[in-house]
Amino acid sequence: MELTKLTACKAADKIRKKEFSVPELTQAYLDRIGELNEKIGAYITVCKQDAGKQADNIQKKIDNNGELPLLAGIPAGISDNICTSGVLTSCGSRMLSNFVPPYDATAVKKLSQNGAVMLGKLNMDEFAMGSSNETSWYGQVKNPLDYGRVPGGSSGGAAAAVASQMACFALGSDTGGSVRLASSFCGVVGLKPTYGAVSRYGLVAFASSMDQIAPVTRDVADCAAVMNSIAGHDPLDSTSRDYGHEDYTLSLKSDVKGLKIGLPKEYFSGGIQKEVKEKVLDAAKVFESLGAEIEEISLPLLEYALPAYYIISSAEASSNLAQYDGIKYGYRTRQFEDLVDLYKKTRGEGFGEEVKRRILVGTYVLGAGNYDACYNKALKVKRMIFEEYQNAYQKVEVILVPTAPSTAFKIGEKTADLLDMYLNDVYTVPVNLAGLCAISVPCGFDSSGLPVGMQLIGKPYDEGTILRAAFTYEKYTGGNGGIDCGI
Ligand code: GLN
Repeated sequence: MELTKLTACKAADKIRKKEFSVPELTQAYLDRIGELNEKIGAYITVCKQDAGKQADNIQKKIDNNGELPLLAGIPAGISDNICTSGVLTSCGSRMLSNFVPPYDATAVKKLSQNGAVMLGKLNMDEFAMGSSNETSWYGQVKNPLDYGRVPGGSSGGAAAAVASQMACFALGSDTGGSVRLASSFCGVVGLKPTYGAVSRYGLVAFASSMDQIAPVTRDVADCAAVMNSIAGHDPLDSTSRDYGHEDYTLSLKSDVKGLKIGLPKEYFSGGIQKEVKEKVLDAAKVFESLGAEIEEISLPLLEYALPAYYIISSAEASSNLAQYDGIKYGYRTRQFEDLVDLYKKTRGEGFGEEVKRRILVGTYVLGAGNYDACYNKALKVKRMIFEEYQNAYQKVEVILVPTAPSTAFKIGEKTADLLDMYLNDVYTVPVNLAGLCAISVPCGFDSSGLPVGMQLIGKPYDEGTILRAAFTYEKYTGGNGGIDCGI
């Protein structure tokens, strides 16, 4: 049996039945990382020894027939912007290349309380700013399905690790689509929880009003299992909500009879790749054949979502990243003349191009002369997008759209044209602006064999419904068109 091919739920079941041990499973993943990481670049740090120790401890509990938590013994990777006690948390940046947090993020703590084994820290776009993983200071992550292509971003390391079986599941972050885009490009499942569903404590801030820690998994059932472990109110994050979160695995019913699914026409026109459109519309037909009611709807504010997102996220980033000054922690330039010179050199050397660009844009839109014309206007657009979705949810329960306008593109293809790069996020950012939940699920391949992803968007805190719809689709089609996309 190839242990790394198993989903988290299947592996957990076999561990309980003692078909193999946690150290065996962990070692299989570490071997896989040893074999592939140099080529794919998904991990920045591999915690070989720690993972081994955790695996032994969990196995001891199993041998003593102790009560087994949900993810007991399942090896996972964590994005490098999620704090892990005693382990480098670089955010893909030179600025934090020496930052070893003294504490765990709440999501990490919860995973470890649930018995997950942490394999290491995953590569990502610098400070989660990017759509292709080309902005990391630690180098490009490659798409496991085609090394010449990007894995999507910013959580490219997370999606690439799960797709290439270097992690059974992973945690990434989703501010504007990071986890969904990367999952779509790598052919895995990624869920952006409702804002407030998962604690942000210990997630290095990019745009605090939209950031969410988000699971990347092999299938929908795993996604529900991981959400069960990480969701819920946390007194350490005042924006996390006590909504008495449900047992998400109870949503895993194969049933979409009568489910009202909206197809917004604006998401299927413009610069969308023909095959992406076809595959997502095919998925709509599958839902229809299973008893769902498909209705065309209109969300005309889509065209304003991307500019509003880039204004708001850059404004927040410019403020959040002001703390990296070479004094408190993180990188500090070697030679400087005075305090101002220290700040300038530290920030000049510590941040990469894209991060600097966002800080500049953010500072500009928050400037006294531009605040109303840019930042305030973007906030109004955000509110209007929220209302537009609220209205749509009067008619439908779930909205089905493509995750991205295209499949994975070639490394370097979009670095020269920023607008082209930012357009990757056109279908994902409205979800973050409106505080909704959404899941990206593979729905076939294009003619080059690259995975296509569809997005099921749900009302706030209605993860249960999108998980049910995604689960039903996956069960019916057998996953990505019935094809095993693990390499
Ligand atoms: N690509 C988007 C950006 O660069 C979103 C990234 C994210 O979700 N972290 O801002």
